[in-house]
Amino acid sequence: MSRYAYVNGRYLPFPDAKVHVEDRGYQFADAVYEVCEVRAGQLVDERRHLDRLERSLKAIRLRLPMSRAALGVVLREVVARNRIRFGMVYLQIGRGVARRDLAFPVPAAAPSVVVTARPFNRARIDASAATGIAVVSVPDNRWGRVDIKSVGLLPNALARQTAIEQGAREAWFIDKSGAVTEGASANAWIVTADGKLVTRRADHTILGGITRGVLFEAVKAQGLTIEERPFTLEEAYAAREALITSATQSVMPVVRIDGRVIGNGKPGPLATALRREFHRFAEIG
Ligand code: PMP
Repeated sequence: MSRYAYVNGRYLPFPDAKVHVEDRGYQFADAVYEVCEVRAGQLVDERRHLDRLERSLKAIRLRLPMSRAALGVVLREVVARNRIRFGMVYLQIGRGVARRDLAFPVPAAAPSVVVTARPFNRARIDASAATGIAVVSVPDNRWGRVDIKSVGLLPNALARQTAIEQGAREAWFIDKSGAVTEGASANAWIVTADGKLVTRRADHTILGGITRGVLFEAVKAQGLTIEERPFTLEEAYAAREALITSATQSVMPVVRIDGRVIGNGKPGPLATALRREFHRFAEIG
């Protein structure tokens, strides 16, 4: 099936979907992005993703280059043209094309806007969720503003590659105090021996995941307690359950960390229940 992308105002077949060599997103990672799950052809949590997009844009001193309504139309059009039922839509907005210079271009360049979409292999993701995934820890060597969803993902790519080379699916970043910050592309959670869900506070040291936020509501609705605090790698090794959350995987059980078995080595009951329940709490439409 041929694929289409939206690039700066036009819907283009993939081979023609190109940006300029002096695009600041390409040269400086001067761009931010969002990834939204598509479920039964519908966007999941569009409102929350666009809210976060606006926060990221504000942090890098860019404005939304079109209305939220217009952006919603573009996202849906790319999903429709690519005939996505289950998958994801990717949106990137950057400071545009200008002569290579760190300072912002004057006058401002037209922002670059790119939207792509692709289907998921649902069977593969569900199979992973049924067995649980392995993660490995790596030092968190990222910059101090990872709450901004910037396309500067080199540390994340290196971390993910390390994980893959060690036979794991995800990497968990560890800060200087030995606490887990988050995954290379997901938020990290544990369930303690006394049944409390623990995840780090969404400050500048992690990306405030949309899935994380929705899960908070789901968990509260079930009357469970969440502790929003850092947890150490040692604590994670000894946890009853571990899990990660992201828009592309929703809730994914973790059964091994650095080769150590978590719980009984199978997806935990809480992670499994939260995965099953997740979309009841998401906004779909
Ligand atoms: N942390 C990082 C570093 C990520 O890349 C992602 C995925 N975008 C997340 C957390 C999870 O965020 P969300 O639930 O919004 O997908």
